Amino acid sequence: MAGYAAPKSWKNGMIEVGPKIFAYVQASRVDPDGDTGISNAGLIVGKDGVVAVDALMVPSMTKKLVAAIKKVTRRPVAQLINTHHHLDHTGGNTFFDTATIISTEKARDALAPGFPPVPLLQRFMPRFAAEFPKLRVVLPTVTFQDRMVIHDGDRRIELWHPGTPAHTIGDSVVYLPKEKILFAGDLAFHYVTPLAFQGHVGHWITALDRLLEFDADVIVPGHGAIGTKKEVTFVRDYLTLVRREAKTRFDAGMSAEDAARDIKIGAFATWSDTERILPNVMRCYQEFRNEMDAPMDLPRMLSGMEALRGRPSDHTCL
Ligand SMILES: [Zn+2]
Ligand SMILES: [Zn+2]
Repeated sequence: MAGYAAPKSWKNGMIEVGPKIFAYVQASRVDPDGDTGISNAGLIVGKDGVVAVDALMVPSMTKKLVAAIKKVTRRPVAQLINTHHHLDHTGGNTFFDTATIISTEKARDALAPGFPPVPLLQRFMPRFAAEFPKLRVVLPTVTFQDRMVIHDGDRRIELWHPGTPAHTIGDSVVYLPKEKILFAGDLAFHYVTPLAFQGHVGHWITALDRLLEFDADVIVPGHGAIGTKKEVTFVRDYLTLVRREAKTRFDAGMSAEDAARDIKIGAFATWSDTERILPNVMRCYQEFRNEMDAPMDLPRMLSGMEALRGRPSDHTCL
């Protein structure tokens, strides 16, 4: 299990991972305060256009991203891809007013009702509490079902949806086949515990198996360090372990909370946000009960995660 241990630190900021292809990484290490809301983005500067991948969450983050983009190119972003509907990837859409925003049809549908209520966000991510009331939803205007290709000169930017829910109902990845670079969105969390509170753990494992078939040398995750297929294998192994161990305890009649405490995760404990094991187990339990359409009980999830962390959130906004 030791191979799964998180490194002490990794590169952050705007990092060139291919010719004029950049990963924008916010965190530089496993953060003891957790990673929730601290996502990555991407930028592809082409002959004809500039394409961004994800928009981060709150204005203080996206303003820095936009400034970093302006250091790389003077041209406006023509297309912004939202890899899924989550707030930490779409909250900054308002800052890309020159761009056509693209997502899967399902991600757009999931974003359309709006962001979760501000008090819930403030409880889940207290560090950013002051900025949540400022957020405004901007929906994608171009959607696709399973695949889409953006052509820019001889560069292909391929968008791919795994065909089932995985991390969310409408995930997509952005793949550059010639350059062998993959922006995996939140299908990949590198050294950050994956979070499946709106996902399907079983299908997510299958989607990762399919991602591992992509011919990619560089993989930019939605959260954590830039990596390779090695880190994607780690995500799959974590989810496989949690699902297998959850099943044993589900069959034995153990509650999700007790199972989350009882499961031994070995070196995965060096990743940030280990308390996410609770929502992951809760979703596995919903999967085993065939109740995937039921929404997650978020207050129960948050209380359980706070108990696992051993302390309540810094602010009690609910
Ligand atoms: Zn995310
Ligand atoms: Zn997400």
